[in-house]
Amino acid sequence: MLKEIFKQAKPILETLEAEGHKAYFVGGCVRDLLLERPIKDIDITTSATPDMVQAIFPSVIPVGIEHGTVIVRHEKESYEVTTFRTEGSYSDSRRPDHVEFIHNIEKDLERRDFTINALAMDKTGRITDLFSGKSDLEQQIIRTVGNGKERFGEDALRIIRALRFSSQLGFQIEEETFTAMVACKSAIRDISVERITNEMERFFAGKHVSIGVNYLVKTAVHTVLPIFKDDPSLIGVIPHNMRPLLSFAEVIAFFHYQKPEIPIHEWTKEWKCSNRTKRLAIQLTEDIERYKRNGLNETVIYQLKEERFRAFTRLVDLLLHDKLSVTELRRLKQKLPIQSRDELAINGNDLLTLFPDKKPGVWVKHLLGEAEKAVITGKVNNQYRDVKEWLEWIQREID
Ligand code: ATP
Ligand code: MG
Repeated sequence: MLKEIFKQAKPILETLEAEGHKAYFVGGCVRDLLLERPIKDIDITTSATPDMVQAIFPSVIPVGIEHGTVIVRHEKESYEVTTFRTEGSYSDSRRPDHVEFIHNIEKDLERRDFTINALAMDKTGRITDLFSGKSDLEQQIIRTVGNGKERFGEDALRIIRALRFSSQLGFQIEEETFTAMVACKSAIRDISVERITNEMERFFAGKHVSIGVNYLVKTAVHTVLPIFKDDPSLIGVIPHNMRPLLSFAEVIAFFHYQKPEIPIHEWTKEWKCSNRTKRLAIQLTEDIERYKRNGLNETVIYQLKEERFRAFTRLVDLLLHDKLSVTELRRLKQKLPIQSRDELAINGNDLLTLFPDKKPGVWVKHLLGEAEKAVITGKVNNQYRDVKEWLEWIQREID
């Protein structure tokens, strides 16, 4: 009996087979099925070339034709379908110089990184396991397919992927693989930063991140990573009982809080992060610093937006050893008289009417900020008359 998620994808294998091709589920989805972990997405490998796949299915998105990958849309789901292939040499440690499409799955499995990722499953649930991946899953071991030094020499990102999988799965890294990681790590410097960041974000989010960190330090791979390579001692701020940080913004806030001399913009530049990540890292840092100064007072709660509650509690736990609950934060937030500035009983236009002699300017924003503070701390009721009287009073004080 196939699991539901595989059942939904099965018609794709059946259609390919009906056209005379071979097709299998492959990689992470098979691994996670055997581990009884939640399955993220289903990847398919086939003897059909991308052109053939495009001709067979009505809805196909050509995402990486030259590497043999297309996305097939089926019943509102997306499936990555990749043609069986071998890879040429990686002269730049980035991507293979050329890929060659082939007819049998054996060589396709051979080009994959780790034995636990080199498993394929047919539409009946039968598994192809050429490199003892099942046994490594049972023994919880990460081991390269074939010679470690060769495989890391072809693509040094695999070294980071080994760390990522140890962090996600809590597996040990097999000895020869470990030695090869140490020997080949300098080639990581030549890999595109975006690929590294993508894997390292998953590394820090791993359920068993403390196991991953242990390997990161033991292999000294951190000494070739952006930022860390200039200050390897930075790794020492990670505690022994490290817990997962679910976004790279949290990771940046975590390190920046402990080493403020490395500015956030340097992190985001060196790790090529999005503006969204940068913004979030800055907001989280401000949240933590405000909390450290004031505890959970009204202003801290007011500024802390609900979408950052979880990240904030994780960081406060790791950095300040305070256990806060999201339920408690939510309760405190609901107690506030207003949740945002648009709920304030007075607005900018009201202020211009109240003080007709004053020209529009920054004073409007400043007074609104004062009103906001007075309302959330309970000094003034959020009623037009109360806020108005209070503002007239402080304006007199200023003038
Ligand atoms: P996840 O569930 O986190 O997506 P995954 O194993 O599916 O894990 P992907 O990055 O989606 O990881 O890659 C899909 C498959 O492609 C892998 O299982 C592996 O077989 C192969 N693969 C991916 N990257 C590499 C690589 N750099 N070298 C060799 N094989 C790779
Ligand atoms: Mg995947």
